[in-house]
Amino acid sequence: MSVEEEVMRIQKKLSKMTSDDGSGQEQALDLLKELQSLKINLDVLTKTRIGMTVNALRKSSKDDDVITLAKTLIKNWKKFLSSSDTGKSSSSSDAKESKKDEKRKEDKPKKDDRERDRKLPTAFPPTSVTTDSVRLKCREMLASAIKTNSKDEDFEGCASAEELAEELEEAIFQEIKNTDTRYRNRIRSRISNLKDIKNPTLRTSFRVGAITAQRLASMTAEEMANDDVKQLREKFNKEAINDAQLATAQGTKTDMLKCGKCKKRNCTYNQLQTRSSDEPMTTFVLCNECGNRWKFC
Ligand SMILES: [Zn+2]
Repeated sequence: MSVEEEVMRIQKKLSKMTSDDGSGQEQALDLLKELQSLKINLDVLTKTRIGMTVNALRKSSKDDDVITLAKTLIKNWKKFLSSSDTGKSSSSSDAKESKKDEKRKEDKPKKDDRERDRKLPTAFPPTSVTTDSVRLKCREMLASAIKTNSKDEDFEGCASAEELAEELEEAIFQEIKNTDTRYRNRIRSRISNLKDIKNPTLRTSFRVGAITAQRLASMTAEEMANDDVKQLREKFNKEAINDAQLATAQGTKTDMLKCGKCKKRNCTYNQLQTRSSDEPMTTFVLCNECGNRWKFC
């Protein structure tokens, strides 16, 4: 059996153990020890995403030995990241989840790390995986709230509602560290505000990246309902007005919008009244990094 197959065999067993209550993990320590004895390289890490599995186990386990060994393994595997400067961008783009959320939790990334992350966009994207059914349900509900009153094609080119929901839930979970009442209240209030028919600005601002998941995760009800969001929007519209006055055909550069494709904040936009004058303006956006184009109202 190859190392990759060995890892996948162990992974399968470990995945079954990461239940909410941490029960049924008797074997976990032995499996982690097996993993420790294997010669796991960056390629195997990327292909199997075993780091995510071990991290999920670490979070759900109540056994100190399991937690300690899981941490050690993750720490060792991260060293592959720092020693790899070959740019693993050839790995499959569906390697959606990986080690980045673990990294986020620990010390703030240094400049080198950020450089590296830029080089390894597909191997280690900033999404996070959970097997916790409560958290998955919350992500689902957040995604549907984000989609309120809009069709997918309205935001073509932006990050998907599911992706945003995941980021938002992760940010909330990272702050509260469990799924107790406080967590649920926080999720619930985000959902009701995102769904608010009278508050499309919040949805749109989040969707286009003007409000980050980290920001939205900690906003108060008042902030979500009013001032902050409106101020952002006003600032945004003001830029557009200034732009119109200068009559620049090239559009306005902004870092307030985030490209859904390459996740960078280097966009140029133009606003146009496409229908009658009492309808909202349509904003056309071009990503200066990757050429992605999209529009929103
Ligand atoms: Zn882009």
